[in-house]
Amino acid sequence: MTPPPATTEPRLIDRAIVKTMPIMPRRLVQRLSAPYIAGDTLDGAIGVVTSLAARGMGSTLDVLGEAITSREEAEATRDAYLEAIAELGQLDAPTPLVRNVSVKLTALGLGIDDTLVHENVDAIAAAMQQIGGFVRVDMEDTPYTDATLELYRSLRDAGRDNLGIVIQAYLKRSRADVEALASEGARVRVVKGIYVEPLELAWRDMATINRSYLDLCRILAEAGCHAAYATHDDKLISGCLDLVERMDLSRDLYEFQMLLGVREERRDDLVDQGHPMRVYVPFGAQWYEYSVRRLRENPRVAGQVAQATLLGWKRRLTPGGSKHA
Ligand SMILES: Cc1cc2nc3c(=O)[nH]c(=O)nc-3n(C[C@H](O)[C@H](O)[C@H](O)COP(=O)(O)OP(=O)(O)OC[C@H]3O[C@@H](n4cnc5c(N)ncnc54)[C@H](O)[C@@H]3O)c2cc1C
Repeated sequence: MTPPPATTEPRLIDRAIVKTMPIMPRRLVQRLSAPYIAGDTLDGAIGVVTSLAARGMGSTLDVLGEAITSREEAEATRDAYLEAIAELGQLDAPTPLVRNVSVKLTALGLGIDDTLVHENVDAIAAAMQQIGGFVRVDMEDTPYTDATLELYRSLRDAGRDNLGIVIQAYLKRSRADVEALASEGARVRVVKGIYVEPLELAWRDMATINRSYLDLCRILAEAGCHAAYATHDDKLISGCLDLVERMDLSRDLYEFQMLLGVREERRDDLVDQGHPMRVYVPFGAQWYEYSVRRLRENPRVAGQVAQATLLGWKRRLTPGGSKHA
C-alpha cells in the first residue's frame, strides 16, 4: 500500500487509531507498519537493499532492537550485524550503495557496560572496514548524547575511519557539536531529532528547528565535510538543494536520506534529478517498537492502512464478497 501524501493532516480517527496501538493485536500493528520495515529476516532486508541498488539508491541496514537489558541481547544484536555484513559483502552491487549499516548504541550495550558496547561497535566497524563499508552511529535521546559522541571519537582515534555520526537539529548544543565535528572532518547525518526532550535542551518550535537544521548543513558544507540530509520535509529538502547549488557541492560531499516507505515519490524525484539518495532499511524480529514510533509520527498513515485492513475484513465477511479480497 502506498502511504498517503505526506502533507495531509491526520484526522481525529487517525489519532485515535494510533492511541489504541498499545492494545492492538501485534499482527495488526505489523500490517500497519509493513511499508516501513523490510521484514523480520535478513533475506527480506537483503532483497530490499538489492532492489534499491538496482534503482541507483543506497541503503543503510538497521537491525531493529533497542532498550535491551542484558549482555546476551547486546551480543545477539552484534552477531546479527556481523551476519548482515557478511551477506552485504557478497552482493554484486557498488560498495558505497550497499555496504552501509546504522547502529543504535543502546542495542549494543550502552547503558549496560561501557567496555561491551565499545567492543561490539568495534567488531562491527572492523568487519565493515574489511569490505570497504561504512557504519553510521545513530543518535538516541540526550542521556546518551555525550557517551555516543565519546564512543564515536574513541573508535575513530583508534583507526576506524569508516564511522559516521548523527546530529539532531532540535538540540541547542548541536551547533557547537557540529563545529567540533566539522573541524575533525566527520561524516555527519543531520536529522531534526525524534525523541521527546526537555525544553532546556531542545527547541520545539518547528521554524527554529528548521533554521538550526539548515545552519548545521551549511557549517558542514563550508568545512568540506560529507553530510547526509536525512529529512522528508519539503522546506528542508529545498533548503539543502539551494545549499548544494550555491556551494556547487559535488556528489561525494552530500546525500539525501529517507526512511523506507516514506515519501517515495519525492525520493524518486530527487534520484531522477541526479542526487545521491540512501534509504534507511530496518529489519528484524524486534519490529514492534520501531513500528509504533513511526506510526505515531504519522497518524494519517496508520488511519489509512487500518481502514484498508478493516475494509478487507468486511469484504471477506460480507455475503457475496470475495473471499480473497
Ligand atoms: C535516514 C534517517 C535517519 C534518522 N536517524 C535518526 C537518528 O539517528 N536520531 C534521531 O533522533 N532521529 C533520526 N531520524 C528521524 C528524524 O529525527 C525525524 O524525526 C524524522 O525524519 C521526521 O522529520 P522530517 O525531517 O522528515 O520532517 P517532518 O516534518 O516530520 O516530516 C516531513 C513530512 O514527511 C512525512 N513523514 C515524516 N515521517 C513520516 C513517516 N514515518 N511516515 C510517513 N510520512 C512521514 C510527514 O507527514 C511530513 O509531512 C532519522 C530520519 C531519517 C530519514
